[in-house]
Amino acid sequence: MTNSWVNWAGDQRCQPAACATPNSIAELPTLLASAEANGQTVRVAGAGHSFSEAVLTDGLLLNMAKLNRVTDIDRASGLVRVEAGVTLNAASNALHESGLAFANLGDIDVQTVAGATATGTHGTGASLQNLSAALHSVELMLADGSRVELNEQTDPDGWRAARVSLGALGVVTGVTVQMVPSFVLEGIERPVPIDDVLADLDSFIDGNEHFEFYMFAHTSLAMTKRNNRVPLPEQPRGKVVDWFADIVASNYLAETLCRLGRRRPRLIPALQRRAASILSYRRQVDRSYRVFASPRLIRFTEMEYAIPREHSADAIREIKEVATRFDTLMPIEVRWAAPDDAFLSPAHDRKTCYIAVHQYRGMDFEPYFRACEAVFDRYHGRPHWGKRHFQTAAALRDRYPEWDRFAEVRRRFDPKGRFANAYLDRVLGPVG
Ligand SMILES: Cc1cc2nc3c(=O)[nH]c(=O)nc-3n(C[C@H](O)[C@H](O)[C@H](O)COP(=O)(O)OP(=O)(O)OC[C@H]3O[C@@H](n4cnc5c(N)ncnc54)[C@H](O)[C@@H]3O)c2cc1C
Repeated sequence: MTNSWVNWAGDQRCQPAACATPNSIAELPTLLASAEANGQTVRVAGAGHSFSEAVLTDGLLLNMAKLNRVTDIDRASGLVRVEAGVTLNAASNALHESGLAFANLGDIDVQTVAGATATGTHGTGASLQNLSAALHSVELMLADGSRVELNEQTDPDGWRAARVSLGALGVVTGVTVQMVPSFVLEGIERPVPIDDVLADLDSFIDGNEHFEFYMFAHTSLAMTKRNNRVPLPEQPRGKVVDWFADIVASNYLAETLCRLGRRRPRLIPALQRRAASILSYRRQVDRSYRVFASPRLIRFTEMEYAIPREHSADAIREIKEVATRFDTLMPIEVRWAAPDDAFLSPAHDRKTCYIAVHQYRGMDFEPYFRACEAVFDRYHGRPHWGKRHFQTAAALRDRYPEWDRFAEVRRRFDPKGRFANAYLDRVLGPVG
């Protein structure tokens, strides 16, 4: 029997020479020593929700699923210690009991804490940073089995590199996360003409704690989503309402349209108009993580770029125009984030607009994504490390002012390139 690994989307696979799912951190040094002895490189898998080749290896693949505990909670400071393999959802559930929550989340919460932060995963909110900015401290196991605790005091450069590390520095074993007091969100979804949104974009972005929208290429409506804190009790939706809203409407109906579009691409503009016509007002009042995240059952692939916020409206218009030239039924999604200081964060040191394009499984994504990337390049875009892109280190280094400082930390922690793979060779270059 051969080892094999496949990502959530089903389109990134590898056959590692060895796979291991350690039961404890104490097992890791032996596994790393055997990789060294066998001349194998090492990668770590989180929940496999990256669309890029970030996880792939033919060496040793470590699965951290059993290192999934919340090990310490300080309610007063909001600092919590978790093992690297805990999922955002499991941590949210456990910490809610202690009155704590993540300040922000993306649109799913099944990723592991280490996997999500390693790629700079983000939600939306102009005054809120990517998830990795909440990492107060990162514990890293190096190739020789030694452990380092990285925070602003112990090793400021190591800490700023390890928060968005792409798994290039070593095995993240545990992190201390700055949480905030639990909160209730009111989430309002409403279709609004795209021209109205773009005409008054700053008011939408700054007038809400979390603002985002998605749209289809061939329609004039944007589905806006505003999440704001409210001093109201949770009003969890009934299971049937949940099932209809999240599973039937958002997933099964959309999947049926996508399948039809894949079979009959000429119908795509009409199908998009049909999809837009059933967008409707929706309101949810619930604990934060239930409003941020929802189930995603349709399998697709995705590209997402971080561009300077000031170019939001121009870039959105251009990407919408590009999308009309390709066969895709999937939406364009737009979000915002505040600057942070992790060396390789796509939002490093600039107010950021994230624009994502998607393609349904089994449909050609490359010409579409390349055409979008040409637009993002003109805006000095930085790709989401966990999503598809075609960049190389030569093109990317100018887009990250602290690129060389990350490379220096990488040389210090992984001088032999034990944690490298083909993706890192392409996007970061070899160690050294
Ligand atoms: C349906 C869907 C929705 C998504 N929504 C969003 C969104 O709203 N916002 C957003 O920004 N992104 C989003 N993403 C992308 C996703 O958040 C990222 O790709 C994230 O990195 C996936 O986390 P994971 O736990 O699955 O990690 P994986 O994809 O398994 O791994 C990601 C990277 O982390 C490394 N890694 C994982 N664990 C460790 C560890 N312990 N030590 C060292 N390295 C490690 C891996 O080697 C790899 O390089 C979405 C993806 C999907 C499929």
